[in-house]
Amino acid sequence: MQTLHQIQADLNRGTTTMLAIVEEYLARIESSKKLNAYVEVYAEEACQRAIELDKKYGEHPDKMGKLFGVVLSIKDVLCYAGHEVTAASKILEGFKSLYTATAIERLLAEDAIIIGRTNCDQFAMGSTNENSVYGPSLNAADITKVPGGSSGGSAVSVQADTCLVSLGSDTGGSVRQPAAFCGLIGLKPTYGRISRYGLLAYASSFDQIGILGKNIEDVALLLEVMAGEDKMDSTSSSRAVEKYASLPEYTKKARIAYFDTAINHASIDADIRRQTLDCIARLKAAGHTVEAVDFPYLDYIIPAYYVLTTAEASSNLSRYDGIRYAYRDPEAKTLQETYEKSRTEGFSKEVKRRIMLGTFVLSAGYYDAYYAKAQKVRRLIQEKTLEILSRHDFILMPTSPSPAFGLGEKTKDPVEMYLADIYTVQANMTGMPAINLPLGTHESGLPLGIQLMANKFEEASLLTFSNYMYKNILSK
Ligand code: GLN
Repeated sequence: MQTLHQIQADLNRGTTTMLAIVEEYLARIESSKKLNAYVEVYAEEACQRAIELDKKYGEHPDKMGKLFGVVLSIKDVLCYAGHEVTAASKILEGFKSLYTATAIERLLAEDAIIIGRTNCDQFAMGSTNENSVYGPSLNAADITKVPGGSSGGSAVSVQADTCLVSLGSDTGGSVRQPAAFCGLIGLKPTYGRISRYGLLAYASSFDQIGILGKNIEDVALLLEVMAGEDKMDSTSSSRAVEKYASLPEYTKKARIAYFDTAINHASIDADIRRQTLDCIARLKAAGHTVEAVDFPYLDYIIPAYYVLTTAEASSNLSRYDGIRYAYRDPEAKTLQETYEKSRTEGFSKEVKRRIMLGTFVLSAGYYDAYYAKAQKVRRLIQEKTLEILSRHDFILMPTSPSPAFGLGEKTKDPVEMYLADIYTVQANMTGMPAINLPLGTHESGLPLGIQLMANKFEEASLLTFSNYMYKNILSK
């Protein structure tokens, strides 16, 4: 495992070139094809760009961007001009982006190379990557297990060393949960920290682009490059971007909260509980304050999330009507038939379930009972979380109540799958930044993760403490 610093040192010494690095990744993509992490590999293009960057480096070594040395993959929900983007759905079959997402533009401007587009759950709806027209991606730690979702292919692409980092999206845990299942670092920044322009929308008040990697410094640097105001996304924040990648020593004693209701939740795996408590004990032994706080809303998070996100999705996905985008049923004769058949055939069962649920909770007569009620629950959760974070630096939680599921294990009962997001959704409900850190190995041999959440725009301290914790607490 290499960090960008090491790669850049090798490039400086002349012991490697970008072309050699890209070729090595391409060879690994080829040898790990069965993991189904990629839906498209930009082999030729990536080599071409590597050659150009090597040339630029040879001529003007002082003019290289901050990300010279970075090869990344992008989730199939991010627009990249001239490249297909399908959200792993038939409805967008063959659709090519007309413009590039701001986040990607900023990475390219700093000399990063994009190696391919990764598999995911359709429209980022799911926790296993099984809801994809391309079939599931497989966990490289155990191919009988899912990598998590929805950014499953992104996680596997990093896990299998086919790129340095990957971009995913996180609406309810889709970066952090696959990171936990695959033993990676997964960051969901504060809502609005990274522009969503060019990210296919699932639930706009929850969506945020996130980063998966093996090193905190790489993840922090990508955030630093992508973060900041964008006039194309009115929800992007104008707050100054801090030097996230500087990662100074964490010298303070942290005040950390955890919820008894989370650690003792009925759904939590016994070994995850034990290892989480063990981590808390090590933090305490290192002099940090770690205390249980009252959070009475844990079991309301998932119901409120599924009312609000499906409502937003039902509106966002109405644009895929068979008229303006990609797939259109070839036999449909009337306008009505075109809508009906194209959407029936184009969307997966899960996506249709969510569109229908969202339409229902927004409909006259049910709006107040479901949608308005869920908004109130969201407000209560936000206020309580803010109150906790006014007295504590971080909230610590497992990332997932279980290690990676077996393939097919959760597909029969959607509600069971929804409930597995119990620990990750709070950060999206409240807009807080949160990160998954590798906690260790489960007794089954699978990777496990732990999650830290901080107050809005506290990415600098979240990453600095994560770095401290990764090196001093989790490696023991
Ligand atoms: N698993 C969650 C869902 O299905 C989260 C998805 C996400 O973050 N995109 O909605």
